[in-house]
Amino acid sequence: MAWNQPAGLQRRQWPAVVGIAKLDVGAQRADPDTSNRRISTLAQLIRELLHRKKFLHALGDRRGRYTQKPTLTISCGALVLSQFRLQSRGAPFGNLLSAAAPKVDASASSCDKGGMSSAISIDPHYLVARLKALLAIPSPTGFTDEAVRHTARELERLGLEVVLTRRGAIRARRPGAARRPARGIVSHLDTLGAQIKLLKPNGRLELVPIGHWSARFAEGARASIFSVKGTYRGSILPLKASGHTFNEEVDTQPSGWRHVELRVDALARNQHDLTQLGIDVGDIVAIDPAPEFLENGFIVSRHLDDKAGVAVMLAALEAMNREKVETPVDTYWLFTIGEEVGVGASAVVTPDIASLVAVDNGTTAPGQNSSEFGVTLVMADQTGPFDYHLCKKLFELCGANGIRVQKDVFRYYRSDAASAVEAGHDVRTALLAFGVDASHGYERIHLHALISVAKLVVHYLASQIEIERDAEETAVGLKGFTHQKVPEAEQALTPEDGQES
Ligand SMILES: [Zn+2]
Repeated sequence: MAWNQPAGLQRRQWPAVVGIAKLDVGAQRADPDTSNRRISTLAQLIRELLHRKKFLHALGDRRGRYTQKPTLTISCGALVLSQFRLQSRGAPFGNLLSAAAPKVDASASSCDKGGMSSAISIDPHYLVARLKALLAIPSPTGFTDEAVRHTARELERLGLEVVLTRRGAIRARRPGAARRPARGIVSHLDTLGAQIKLLKPNGRLELVPIGHWSARFAEGARASIFSVKGTYRGSILPLKASGHTFNEEVDTQPSGWRHVELRVDALARNQHDLTQLGIDVGDIVAIDPAPEFLENGFIVSRHLDDKAGVAVMLAALEAMNREKVETPVDTYWLFTIGEEVGVGASAVVTPDIASLVAVDNGTTAPGQNSSEFGVTLVMADQTGPFDYHLCKKLFELCGANGIRVQKDVFRYYRSDAASAVEAGHDVRTALLAFGVDASHGYERIHLHALISVAKLVVHYLASQIEIERDAEETAVGLKGFTHQKVPEAEQALTPEDGQES
């Protein structure tokens, strides 16, 4: 039995969280049956201990109560007793920590094989620098070449060989101990945008959106128009833009893409002028992101969906290289270019890839369980539930490594994961989200979520393969096939639980 201090916690947060205990049961791979028996016996023993006052007193709590029940899970062949808190009044937490949580060699945990310390550090400066650089490169769907070039160059700088599909989806492999069952992480380089629908007689441009977003958020935006002759600048305005002319009508006119137009900052008085400028129907329009990075960690910008996801992946990769994290199987770093129009990862997944984890935005709107902090583990989107086993593993890895996590379900949402499955790839899928407020509008996120997701990506990629038959796309018979057995729930509640003392 070994004790770890909770990874990812600041020293000043220690008094609230006593510890995370990991019991390495060892030899699981050599003799799974014995090891599984040992796990259940130990689990039973610990569950009993948790209800004994003696155990609490031994940990230093005079009142003999938990403020939050400890949870016991089995993750990667280790028992994980996570984030249990004790009443703080009078408890000598400082001493307790040093006594109860001696430093432990990370290799003691079967989760951490590959030499990875559980205190993986994501470089926030690198992450933010990548995000700023990506936001500065316009990349609405259909106009992603420069963002692809930028990202491919960075992946090469980080030592990966980059393979591009014809249109520019990126697949970069980082070799692991075995080729299969490989793991893929995916985010998308394309963003929302607009396209010219019509050259209007007044010299302005009618637009259609690229991707699904409200024209309300387009009103007032600055934009670039990519014509055959080069780039022009302009503003998207409601048809009745001037209060001095239209008075209260500026507030009562309808909203929608038919009720806005793009005013080009060039001599464009009519259709002829527009044609002379080289502006034409179908030209792509990119909306300025207008990013703000605040000292308190909030980041406000358009297109955080999904440039923040790309930055998270690059930051995870940078950390893995810096800390020389080895993985049990090859990992594929995928960046797609058509997610906002629904085709995302349809043509970039290889047969080696058995599981695909998308990194994309969550939505922190009312009625959602997403948060701007920690990891939001998405359990389902409009295409249905994500993979049971993969979601479970990711959730447990959060518990085992002190990463804040909440689960959410999205009604009107799809991601690269859905497009991969719909294209016929039999991959397990999951979605790790960073909470975004006003998604597809003027978005806001917090650095805390980005760091949390990057950390989880590293821990996931370094963790052992649990479903070995995933190495093949199909296998004969049930040997090694997964279970979704549901044992009867343990109900250890007593009438005293939850009462204030
Ligand atoms: Zn999106």
